[in-house]
Amino acid sequence: MRKKIVAANWKMNMTLGESTRFIESFLLDAADIREVEIVIIPPFTALAKVTELLENKSQSIKVGAQNMHWERNGAFTGEISAALLRDLFIHYVILGHSERRRLFGETDEIVNKKVRAAHEATLRPIVCVGETLEQRDKGNVEKILSIQLRGSLKDLSEKELQETVVAYEPVWAIGTGRNATPEQAQEAHAFIRQTLREMSDETTADRIRIQYGGSVKSENAQELMGQQDIDGALVGGASLDPRSFAAIVKAARDQK
Ligand code: PEP
Repeated sequence: MRKKIVAANWKMNMTLGESTRFIESFLLDAADIREVEIVIIPPFTALAKVTELLENKSQSIKVGAQNMHWERNGAFTGEISAALLRDLFIHYVILGHSERRRLFGETDEIVNKKVRAAHEATLRPIVCVGETLEQRDKGNVEKILSIQLRGSLKDLSEKELQETVVAYEPVWAIGTGRNATPEQAQEAHAFIRQTLREMSDETTADRIRIQYGGSVKSENAQELMGQQDIDGALVGGASLDPRSFAAIVKAARDQK
């Protein structure tokens, strides 16, 4: 049985004051939730603060980063490494988000280097894959997902694969208010799991958690996460409000 994982991707938002107010309010609603793994993913500037605010408050809430470099250390001005993130007790890192692929030129090869560096430092990657609207309209969803998965998750051991979270994020649904229907999402998730099975084995593929991301809100969360292969959500916009994010976490908890 896969434990649901719901993550809040704050992107380039949230000052220290806003982060503090969010965590204080969110804990009132969610500190007692045990059934769902919750990951708060603030900007780099708020990582230490959020970690400190969560200390000894809940076993279920972890902190993640939004990106990292693949090298361990050195002359890479402006970059941050897995080791530096682990030094802050960070557990997860988003890699290959479509905004990084589109705006910062990240390829599957770069994502793969980062994924392997994350595992080497015992940081768990949340690896994003997903098609654009044009690719969907041309009937290329499976082709794109297969290329992204095989490229981004190349050369991982079974253990590393099991410790990886995959996020299916159709690019046309991110920040647009237009989410995939539960059936469209389930179809893509089932294909992703089948591809993971081909890349490893049955047991490994059955253990990997696959989140859905793309305009998830409290109103659609329960139906999406009720699908067989949807093991949680990666939430952008709706994660900036503690009550709406708590409602999404509760929707995940209330799934059987
Ligand atoms: C995201 O950026 O990962 C995301 C899913 O954003 P939103 O929920 O705003 O669509």
